[in-house]
Amino acid sequence: MRLIIFGAPGSGKGTYASRLKSKLGIVAIATGAIFRELAKEETSLAETVKSFLELGQLVPDDIVIDVLKGRLMKKVLEGFILDGYPRTLVQAKALDALASIDAVIHLVVPDWIIIERLSNRRICSKCGEVYNIRFLKPRRPETCDKCGEKLLQRADDTPKVIRERIKIYEKQTQPLLQYYEERIPIVRCKCDSIDMPPEAVVANILERLEALDLT
Ligand SMILES: [Zn+2]
Repeated sequence: MRLIIFGAPGSGKGTYASRLKSKLGIVAIATGAIFRELAKEETSLAETVKSFLELGQLVPDDIVIDVLKGRLMKKVLEGFILDGYPRTLVQAKALDALASIDAVIHLVVPDWIIIERLSNRRICSKCGEVYNIRFLKPRRPETCDKCGEKLLQRADDTPKVIRERIKIYEKQTQPLLQYYEERIPIVRCKCDSIDMPPEAVVANILERLEALDLT
């Protein structure tokens, strides 16, 4: 199964993608994580990527498409869930040339939940596992359950930057949803309760994928 998941930063997209990946036996490809990893390297590409990430801006299409192509080509047959890609129509069309997508998952989450969630979000400095100090607590404070490393708050998880990111996300995503709406099924998932457990959201998504005869 080949899926794309859309959701604002803080919609829980990464968490759901990672759970869906295990349930469906596919790989999750998160471009945000790929670029953060890439930015740590000492290359001119890394410098370029870093400059965009630091400003909270989108990495240009040609760079994103190149990076994705390398990762995606090996995974097309196994199935995948794409998180953070495509962000533009140019990227969507480049993807169409690489693989046919079965469905789009669209998470619809109100702004106040996003701001509440992101300001409480912590990420493992080593393995990238995501926690929330209110709703998805690590067993030991500020420590990753998986690898025992320290949890950090991302520099762009501040209310000002969050609001800016939501605005960018909405502006970028609208034309993409329109594009896919005309082509493939969209599983729309309304998450308007802040304490809805991730399992419930994932179960709902799986049920609806099943109804589409994709599982
Ligand atoms: Zn970890």
